[in-house]
Amino acid sequence: MPFADLGLSDDLLRAIGDSGYTEPTPIQAGAIPPVLMGKDLIGIAQTGTGKTAAFVLPMIDILGEGRSRARMPRSLILEPTRELAAQVAENFEKYGKYHKLSMALLIGGVQMGDQIKALEKGVDVLIATPGRLMDLFSRGKILLTGCDLLVIDEADRMLDMGFIPDIEEICTKLPKQRQTLLFSATMPPVIQKLAAKFLNEPRRIEV
Ligand code: AMP
Repeated sequence: MPFADLGLSDDLLRAIGDSGYTEPTPIQAGAIPPVLMGKDLIGIAQTGTGKTAAFVLPMIDILGEGRSRARMPRSLILEPTRELAAQVAENFEKYGKYHKLSMALLIGGVQMGDQIKALEKGVDVLIATPGRLMDLFSRGKILLTGCDLLVIDEADRMLDMGFIPDIEEICTKLPKQRQTLLFSATMPPVIQKLAAKFLNEPRRIEV
């Protein structure tokens, strides 16, 4: 199946073409259409399957042109590590080059000052590790009430790293009416429970 059949915009197809990809991977072909339709999704896929683009591509089209407001990000992607968060940011830069989305990366080990400045400018896409996000939230630097698109990536690694209580708390701060995508290589019972609690009639794609 070609990328052009998935429902993505021409600008996005152009950026995908520039990156040299000719065909979507199975997780991309399975996830992109339901995500574009606004459905919740559980994607069971390992790293290396192209799962990052499976959520980054439809998110770029859902968010469209930037229209963020100060301190109120429109979407949130939770990643277990700084490295993964940085990779997701690179994907947004690569595929979003014909869109005008603003992005902020909230990870530990980096001065908070610049992150706070970015939040004050308004952010369409917030990519964060749970610890730093909670820290900025508790300091009153960020509001999650406008964030109606959430991605929990590498959920089983989040579990191994002890982040599930943080994720549960973050989920309660987002609007109830939202789209939630959860990706995980495996689905242990704790992750199934998390999905049952925070996703609404999710589509399940396993590759
Ligand atoms: P990920 O599973 O998201 O870590 O992606 C694994 C690798 O696959 C990355 O290096 C991507 O650049 C690459 N990739 C993602 N989508 C495609 C595609 N449709 N065709 C070829 N390579 C891809």
